[in-house]
Amino acid sequence: MGFEDIFKHKPQIKESANARVNLIGEHTDYTGGYVMPTLLNFKNTVELSKNDEKKFVVFSQYFNEKKVFNDFIKSKNSDWSDYIKGCFFIFFDENKKIKLEHFNMYIKSTIPLGRGISSSSALCVSILKALNTYFNTQINEKHLAILAKKVENEYIGISSGIMDQMVSSIGRYEKAFFLDCLNLKYELINFPSNWKFCLIDSEVQRNLRSSSYNDRFNELKIAEKELDVEYLGGVDLNKFDSDKISDPTVIKRARHVVSENNRVLKAKECLLKDDINQFGKLMIESHNSYSKDFEASTADVDEIVKRSFQCGALGARLTGGGFGGFTVSLIEKEKFSDWYKKINKYYPKEKIFEV
Ligand code: ADP
Ligand code: MG
Repeated sequence: MGFEDIFKHKPQIKESANARVNLIGEHTDYTGGYVMPTLLNFKNTVELSKNDEKKFVVFSQYFNEKKVFNDFIKSKNSDWSDYIKGCFFIFFDENKKIKLEHFNMYIKSTIPLGRGISSSSALCVSILKALNTYFNTQINEKHLAILAKKVENEYIGISSGIMDQMVSSIGRYEKAFFLDCLNLKYELINFPSNWKFCLIDSEVQRNLRSSSYNDRFNELKIAEKELDVEYLGGVDLNKFDSDKISDPTVIKRARHVVSENNRVLKAKECLLKDDINQFGKLMIESHNSYSKDFEASTADVDEIVKRSFQCGALGARLTGGGFGGFTVSLIEKEKFSDWYKKINKYYPKEKIFEV
């Protein structure tokens, strides 16, 4: 069932945005540090047309559900339609001169939801792109990402950083997206020809996800206050003075972020020098730090990472905000089929996604 089956006319606008996998740099975005994701071949597509009956009618193919509303400010009701309402709210708030219009919208997505590859950002970026095209508002890609972040921060209530929205809006397929989250400067870097990344789905349900994510955010903000720095991203690993932080748990969280930033910078150098072995080691170090200091992993995820390494991956780690979801592994192309055969004994092919 598509747009025309539901609305009986053709859409006026169609826009898409891709999901992403973060290769290294976890929880370093909202602390003013570095990240290095890349786009995935999964995407969210939004089709829309004007609605003349002063209603918003939105259909999500994934949920096979239609939502009808006419007020996106007051009717927040904690389901998927909040993301849509949030996009309308932020878009019209940003463009106050535009007269409110109502829309029919059809959303289809090939992205596995809630697994740490950012279906939510792809959804918000594609809706904002569609509104930008419809109203010809000429908002650039970077500003669209900033607006999409506002939807998640201000409307949904997740203290996320800017990485997901930036890479979803600006990133290019088959290129690493190195981003300095403080000044939003980025570089698109080609992958060396013998590298291959692969995702394995841990299928861990992330019920605690948003509350744990916000807990970590708050712990890192305490660390910044006690260290008397604006952002942890600016703290050099050699100058990290843990004595200034009173809570041992906060020390661990901050140590993850400060060391992770250092790893992202090293990982970028490895990419430029085609040093696949060292990149793999950094991924393993990153995972250990994420699991032990940040305590964002789970036993199932740790096992996938360990098995992937034992099956011949050079590096593997949990990707995304934490508490389950996808892992990402780095494998030499010529060893890929051997790795796949071995890992496939533990996990069915439906859980393994080549990047
Ligand atoms: P992630 O971004 O890692 O996939 P989130 O929990 O941040 O996980 O976002 C998932 C949520 O985003 C879904 O529960 C739903 O509310 C919304 N969402 C994403 N894609 C769609 C879609 N195609 N249709 C409706 N809602 C979607
Ligand atoms: Mg998300």
